[in-house]
Amino acid sequence: MGKKAIIIGSGFSGMSSASFMAKAGYDVTVIEKHSMPGGRARRLSKSGFHFDMGPSWYWMPDVFERYFAAFGKNVCDYYSLSLLDPSYRVFWNDHYDDIPHGVENLKRLFEQWEPGAAKNLEKFLDEASFKYRMGMQKMVYKPGLRLTEFADREVMKGMMQLDMFTSVRTHISKFFKHPAIRQLLEFPILFLGAHPENTPALYTLMNHADINGGTWYPQGGMYSVVDGMHKLAKELGVRFFFNEHVTGFEISNSRINSVLTDLNDYHADVVIGSADYHFIEQKLLPARYRSYSSAWWQRRKLAPSCLIYYVGLDKKLNNIRHHNLFFDAPFETHSTEIYKTRSWPTDPLFYVCASSVTDASVAPPGCENLFFLVPISAGLFDDDEWLREHYFDMIVKRLEKHTGEKISGNIIYKESFATSDFVNEYHSFNGNAYGLANTLNQTAFLKPKCKSSKISNLYYTGQLTVPGPGVPPSLISGEVVAGVAHRYQNEQS
Ligand SMILES: Cc1cc2nc3c(=O)[nH]c(=O)nc-3n(C[C@H](O)[C@H](O)[C@H](O)COP(=O)(O)OP(=O)(O)OC[C@H]3O[C@@H](n4cnc5c(N)ncnc54)[C@H](O)[C@@H]3O)c2cc1C
Repeated sequence: MGKKAIIIGSGFSGMSSASFMAKAGYDVTVIEKHSMPGGRARRLSKSGFHFDMGPSWYWMPDVFERYFAAFGKNVCDYYSLSLLDPSYRVFWNDHYDDIPHGVENLKRLFEQWEPGAAKNLEKFLDEASFKYRMGMQKMVYKPGLRLTEFADREVMKGMMQLDMFTSVRTHISKFFKHPAIRQLLEFPILFLGAHPENTPALYTLMNHADINGGTWYPQGGMYSVVDGMHKLAKELGVRFFFNEHVTGFEISNSRINSVLTDLNDYHADVVIGSADYHFIEQKLLPARYRSYSSAWWQRRKLAPSCLIYYVGLDKKLNNIRHHNLFFDAPFETHSTEIYKTRSWPTDPLFYVCASSVTDASVAPPGCENLFFLVPISAGLFDDDEWLREHYFDMIVKRLEKHTGEKISGNIIYKESFATSDFVNEYHSFNGNAYGLANTLNQTAFLKPKCKSSKISNLYYTGQLTVPGPGVPPSLISGEVVAGVAHRYQNEQS
């Protein structure tokens, strides 16, 4: 029997690290507080509707292919993908635009808005593709334990082209003047949880992901990816225990001997925490074993939280797409409220996913499955029923106005989820949805380290450590951290 690895949590990063540890020969057990895998990407099934509770954008298909290929499998062995075209619809104040898939189509659209923009988009995307390539080959698969990991000749040579010290906003504004183009190109940065002014232009690699990589949909919803990864992990021999909470550790000589839960004790040779880093460190570990102080955590810049509504309609809508961005209000006011004043938004931008437009299996016949998401600052805990209803009314009215279709009388299922739910359900630090913001001083080796500095067999994976928030980064995080854990455990034995 191999050494025992205990993984805390079965989100994407937990399942990824579990599978890579199993591949390396460990006897792996995953302990999960919920009744199903997926973490923030769990599925909510009610009244014939199936909602993805968190992620809905499937970008960077290459990362998923690489993941399954590491185990001699293909994505299509576990779920099927379809390309969305148009990629998404944007509702502006007075009209909407469908954003087409493919560079040539997008060039045509941009050129109508700003003469010369097609040529500039080519140049902009060449640079974004370079950043994506360098990021994937030289940066995101690094554990970030020390700066020297990045002392690569090619990275050094390309340093200027990586634009680490220019902001996304400044970089985009060098290429384009039209406000709609600027806003569209800044949109993918929202996934990274920081304001475009504070995000290094390196992350315009996300524009490559959006425009060149395309927006895909896994049939059955994002939960099909969870299902696929869960199935693969079980094929590799990983055991899962659900409805079980990790409550602490039995530690001696700066080593975890056992992981304690509300139901059991599990002997551990190595432990990988994929639940929120801050929770494991600050709530499960005694103070002397913490790598970071509470004050250090308080200084971290968090990605936003969000206000979410899962809504079932008893009718189909004509005027929406699968992904819909409501950019009908001023972005600057909303972003100031998220990142600076950290207050409830006055007139927020929001996003609606209607996966039933593409997939009949996620809603009863003749019905529509809607997921509304309003980004808000982390730390807003007064998210009571009144506030939730207030924002719901506001965004439903705006959706009705822009689509020209009434929905308020057709709601047959509704559930909300907000900051306090992120804490209750995931032990999320300050109710964050997406971990830490990807600002320059929270990137790569400046992120919370994936190896504990105080406990010799404790490692961390997931969106609060390398490489950062998002589904593809969580898959990468599991792989990288399993590699680090295996290497250090080999050195110690
Ligand atoms: C609303 C929303 C929308 C998003 N949209 C997108 C998107 O469209 N595309 C994209 O790429 N990314 C998106 N993301 C980000 C992405 O979903 C996350 O970065 C990713 O799922 C995080 O995975 P993780 O494994 O790090 O953490 P989690 O998914 O949080 O997994 C941690 C697990 O640990 C468990 N746990 C916690 N405490 C304990 C305990 N004491 N004992 C046992 N188990 C415990 C939790 O229940 C959870 O299952 C979105 C996130 C949210 C919240």
